[in-house]
Amino acid sequence: MVNDTTRLLGLDGLVVVKVEDAMGEQPPVVHLATADEQARCCPQCATRARRVKAWATTRPRDLPVAGRSVRLRWRKRRWYSDNADCDRGSFTESVTQVPPRSRLTRRLRACAGAAVADAGRAVVQAARDHHVSWPVVSAAFTTYAEQVLPDQPAPVAALGIDEVRRGRPQWVLDETTGTWQTAVDRWHVGFVDLSGGQGLLGQVEGRTSAAVLDWLHQRPPAWREQVRFVAIDMCPAFAKAARLGRYQGFCVTEVRDKKLKPV
Ligand SMILES: [Zn+2]
Repeated sequence: MVNDTTRLLGLDGLVVVKVEDAMGEQPPVVHLATADEQARCCPQCATRARRVKAWATTRPRDLPVAGRSVRLRWRKRRWYSDNADCDRGSFTESVTQVPPRSRLTRRLRACAGAAVADAGRAVVQAARDHHVSWPVVSAAFTTYAEQVLPDQPAPVAALGIDEVRRGRPQWVLDETTGTWQTAVDRWHVGFVDLSGGQGLLGQVEGRTSAAVLDWLHQRPPAWREQVRFVAIDMCPAFAKAARLGRYQGFCVTEVRDKKLKPV
């Protein structure tokens, strides 16, 4: 079953049946079939299906092959789930690289996420490069970052806290009180490692002492205790948070002269 073209494409669970290439303007069409026994097992009860309900052809988007774009055509089956104890009537084949209802391969998503996280591409540029939409890259970046970032930052001796303007605020009308509430704050608060090499540790929405304390309290007590200094600007919200967090806070009033005024 496994031919050289399948090896070259390298999509686990799928085999290349044939490649149509007119060598013209259009990218080659790669016809695929399922070669994963697991794909015909019900995703709910894991029972191996025996009866085909229908055939369908999907067009998952993928990375270029040897620098050329390709058009994938995966002919796959929809199976009846014959297990009487399972309430799933039928299901469509899926493989690891192309999860159910996904129109992109997993590796295309990962590549778009890595372009932002590791290569420093803007989300909009990564979207253009991979021929996908902005929200797809944004979500791919989040997934990628969650996998590579540690659950908690490494110890930090000097913690920097400052606000970041992120865009326009959005408001929603509270029907019960008749007042407008902030739905999206135009301010975010960033936390940075000033003494080590970790850079940005986190960013949360809002510019309040509660937002700062929330982030601090999501760190383990041992992490909070080893912070020796907190550097902030004149914002009273940060001073309050530093005080409530029992940090020896310093307000950087004159960065040029490196004068530090205790809060
Ligand atoms: Zn089932």
